[in-house]
Amino acid sequence: MQNAAVIDIQNLTVSYHRKPAIRSINLKLQEKGIIGIIGPNGAGKSTLLKAILKLVPIEHGTIKVFGEPVDKVRSKISYVPQKEIIDWDFPVTVEDVVMMGRYAHLGAIERPSARDRAIVDEAIDKVSMNEYKKQQIGNLSGGQQQRVFLARALAQESEILLLDEPFVGVDATTEQAIIDLMHTLNDEGKMVIVVNHDLGKVQDYFDYLVMINQWLVAYGPTREVFKPELLSRTYGGRLTILQKTERFFGVAQ
Ligand code: ADP
Ligand code: MG
Repeated sequence: MQNAAVIDIQNLTVSYHRKPAIRSINLKLQEKGIIGIIGPNGAGKSTLLKAILKLVPIEHGTIKVFGEPVDKVRSKISYVPQKEIIDWDFPVTVEDVVMMGRYAHLGAIERPSARDRAIVDEAIDKVSMNEYKKQQIGNLSGGQQQRVFLARALAQESEILLLDEPFVGVDATTEQAIIDLMHTLNDEGKMVIVVNHDLGKVQDYFDYLVMINQWLVAYGPTREVFKPELLSRTYGGRLTILQKTERFFGVAQ
């Protein structure tokens, strides 16, 4: 299907215990650039990613990915969840975690092939974690763990990458490594969507922005929507504190 939206969200409402977390969102994502999802704490950013993956019950609306229901195309989407929800004590090595990215391609009783192992090795290499292959994931630093989860996403060879707050708790080197990787994947034609609540680097990192506060406030090229009026509609009163730093709006404002 030419020109079909990669992700097409129509009239989406998701509630937890009958309390809406996102409300009537319409959004067609098809652009080539890197897409950021921003909004205050509790705005429904993580819920939106989970809804795309059908990890939360959808109260109302439809989501299609490549024109299909998500269940049909799940292996084309990789997801790195927000850190807090991962069980770090689970006794698995870096290699094991990255191999999980290959399971989407393997049958139920199929064992990883030499090719799967080569893809896993390459993914680990791309995030510079070679020397940690046999380490338990729980023993790594926050930045290293995030690299491993990125490697898992790479090994999956998906078309769409969903990252939820990938920069939280990582060192500057890892942050740059993640950015570089996002660009590489995007240049290869993959869709990269990143939830981020920190506004500081939004203008450097994202070509497009989805701004939400339960409702969709705006979606468009960053230079068009990263404006005080839309930001204050997204962040409400909290923005006055942010505005004091002034750097968010740059000199060109
Ligand atoms: P964000 O990622 O923007 O911080 P979330 O999508 O995590 O926001 O949450 C949106 C709202 O839904 C918040 O009010 C949050 O407390 C609530 N919420 C999120 N997950 C659950 C859940 N599993 N059960 C109940 N409420 C939830
Ligand atoms: Mg979140």
